[in-house]
Amino acid sequence: SKPSYKWRRVLLKVSGEALAGDNKQNIDPKITMAIAREVAAVTRLGIEVALVVGGGNIFRGASWAGSSGLDRSSADYIGMLATVMNAIFLQATMESIGIPTRVQTAFRMSEVAEPYIRRRAVRHLEKGRVVIFAAGTGNPFFTTDTAAALRCAEINAEVVLKATNVDGVYDEDPSCNPNARLLDTLTYQEVTSKDLSVMDMTAITLCQENNIPVVVFNLNKPGNISRAIKGETVGTLIGA
Ligand code: UDP
Repeated sequence: SKPSYKWRRVLLKVSGEALAGDNKQNIDPKITMAIAREVAAVTRLGIEVALVVGGGNIFRGASWAGSSGLDRSSADYIGMLATVMNAIFLQATMESIGIPTRVQTAFRMSEVAEPYIRRRAVRHLEKGRVVIFAAGTGNPFFTTDTAAALRCAEINAEVVLKATNVDGVYDEDPSCNPNARLLDTLTYQEVTSKDLSVMDMTAITLCQENNIPVVVFNLNKPGNISRAIKGETVGTLIGA
């Protein structure tokens, strides 16, 4: 009989920074290919995978707002457009190794990708396609972490898997304290009260209110993405 896994449908959040690798301003094709291969392996097992991609490798609204008279909303729209570039890149990489993939954008860009339609996204997943959600929530002043929590709740995915460049959540900042301890588990309460920089408050409270567990893990360790998706212990698990 088929082995069963912890999650049936997951929401994988990949930040722009993670896509950049050593090439901080851009995309590292070795990383997008590694993601594609690992996602391919788990979709073959029957686990449904939706992605939310960030855009911080190209443009971060908050850090540009104010300069040259750029208002925050305009800056954030540029940031959302950046996530679309990453999404198209990831889609092309996935399809180059035979994974059927759809990009859905939070605002319309019909020549480039489908608009976000919840039921259609779910249908794609049921058919074994990977769905990449781009343009965040479609609203300025939000983040792609919040988009990940929101889409996860909307499509009834069971977990947000946050792929980062660190092994998980530490009790202290490991770049300041070499003795900082990696935490296996954490409650939402601890994340918010200790102000641990896991996700922004909007994202983490949305997860908490909807009982969505969050796994923070390092995507640079080979095999970690598929391990996280299969529900194996990796990184830090945040829950009630
Ligand atoms: N953004 C936004 N609304 C959203 C999601 C993203 O305005 O719902 C903008 C915001 O400017 C943000 C940028 O898109 O800085 C890139 O997203 P994010 O910083 O979340 O990407 P990541 O940190 O994951 O690379």
